[in-house]
Amino acid sequence: MDMINVVINGKSYSVAAGSTVLEAAKAANIDIPTLCYLKDINEIGACRLCLVEVSEKRGSAMGPFRMVTACVYPCTDGMEIKTNTPKITASRRMNLELLLSNHDQKCLSCVRSTNCELQTLCREYGVDQSRFKGATHHYEIDDRTPIIRDNNKCILCRRCVATCAKVQAVGVIGANNRGFDTYIGSAFEQALSETSCINCGQCIVACPVGALYERDDTDAVFEALANPDKHVLICTAPSVRAQLGECFGYEPGTDVEGKMVAALKALGFDGVYDMNLTADLTIVEEATELIGRIQNNGVLPMITSCSPGWIKYCEHYFPEFVDNLSTCKSPQQMFGAVVKTYYAQKMGWNPADIVMVSAIPCTAKKFEVGRPDESAAGVPDVDFAITTREVGRMIQKAGINFRALDDEKFDDPFAIGSGAGAIFGATGGVMEAALRYAAEIILGKKLEKVDFTEVRGTEGIKTASYQLGDMTVNVAVASSTGMAKKLLNMVKNGELDVQFIEIMGCPGGCVNGGGQPIQPAKVRMSMDLRAVRAAVLYRDDADCDLRKSQDNLAVQTLYKEFFGEPNSHKAHEILHTSYIKRGL
Ligand code: SF4
Ligand code: SF4
Ligand code: SF4
Repeated sequence: MDMINVVINGKSYSVAAGSTVLEAAKAANIDIPTLCYLKDINEIGACRLCLVEVSEKRGSAMGPFRMVTACVYPCTDGMEIKTNTPKITASRRMNLELLLSNHDQKCLSCVRSTNCELQTLCREYGVDQSRFKGATHHYEIDDRTPIIRDNNKCILCRRCVATCAKVQAVGVIGANNRGFDTYIGSAFEQALSETSCINCGQCIVACPVGALYERDDTDAVFEALANPDKHVLICTAPSVRAQLGECFGYEPGTDVEGKMVAALKALGFDGVYDMNLTADLTIVEEATELIGRIQNNGVLPMITSCSPGWIKYCEHYFPEFVDNLSTCKSPQQMFGAVVKTYYAQKMGWNPADIVMVSAIPCTAKKFEVGRPDESAAGVPDVDFAITTREVGRMIQKAGINFRALDDEKFDDPFAIGSGAGAIFGATGGVMEAALRYAAEIILGKKLEKVDFTEVRGTEGIKTASYQLGDMTVNVAVASSTGMAKKLLNMVKNGELDVQFIEIMGCPGGCVNGGGQPIQPAKVRMSMDLRAVRAAVLYRDDADCDLRKSQDNLAVQTLYKEFFGEPNSHKAHEILHTSYIKRGL
């Protein structure tokens, strides 16, 4: 790598040629504030919070110091950089005041208070009001989908716009109007509900402030918990335990499963269950479906269906692939369906008296609970899907001291999950879990090696080929709908010939879902959150005695007592669903 020399705040550093001033400062452990910057996604120098002073060589002499935006300005050899002068501080303060001059500063009730990048900078720079008074805008809050937009708090950084377009290949939001009248919205002033938004929530985790957030279902869940006539049950998705700790100050990558279960029991749920179990059930159903399609000339490649953001993307943008989708419900929906049919019958409960809550990393799952064909017992399989962030808020609101809790275990009879179920939360995890099942069925013997490491890792698209006896199984994995688009176009163009595809709607999979704790751009710049969070799930898998979904005793009991066999008629009625060719 070519290196160049720069001087930052009087000290010499050697930095990679082509680095921006921001990257050079970061490498030198010097923090430069940013608001609009999001590494590799939004690098536009718009907010002007990263102003620094630089002086560059002009022939043999140094030129005068001048202000530039560090996030886009490239370093040159011999450059002198000042990141913290009174002039810089005054400029940053003025820019913050300008932002506040047209900002609804209701920090006391704002969902992002204490985790807001604007609030943090205002505190650091001692800015609590604006000298600039004048016209202000008042926007209606768009709350018709699970993704709520409050433009009164928007600072026009465009991080959401870039994420929606570049990462997710959706592009349903953009800057409307010009100058002072600019606001973020959809074309023709449409509400998000009228667009082909997939509810992935990636715009929420990109937003530095409280202008985007998910619909809050926590009050409704608290009300259900207070109703003595209801059986209120909760199951938690694999990646919630891997991220919930971040809501309570733990480092990313900390597994808090035991404390999470203890906190949910303290909240008063009548049953706290592990969704890893229905991840296992999904695998048995889905891999059986795959083998059936391969053996019976069914529609291939078969594509996984557990990510509702991806499902809606497919329905809108690739309706020609809807028949390729596995008909399996997602683990969340399978859980509710099993509870309201099998378990209700076993317990003698009326399914209408069960309130099924799922704790999930995903905002699209709030949309999924209302989809048609997701009501196996005649009532919705799942009543409320609450994000990891909402679970954190419920625990805080209830005054539970999370960090002081002793570990507790999930409740029977839905306490068992395999390592294969755990890795569902990371990109490639569903594929690996399915391969652990399919390989054993196709080969007709116990697998000696259960690790299919070729499909692990955070690359957007991964491919692998496995020889299982006489059968060659070619697979592909994509995470983010932007990568899904690229992959499906490769399939359409004949560049890729595979039988099985895993697609997760969010980059990196559920560990990086739109409902996960929000880490500021500064943290996202310093670590690969997707890998750090996924490592928790792979550790869980490696430490688990049970590595394959088919070995899960609770799954075996479900088939023995209720479903008969995988893909049986009854399993199809309860555990499978259908899709809509929506188009644009
Ligand atoms: S977005 Fe930030 S600064 Fe604005 S009200 Fe919310 S917490 Fe306060
Ligand atoms: S939820 Fe996803 S698709 Fe919808 S606006 Fe946000 S990023 Fe775009
Ligand atoms: S909604 Fe949030 S991310 Fe989008 S432009 Fe406004 S402040 Fe930035």
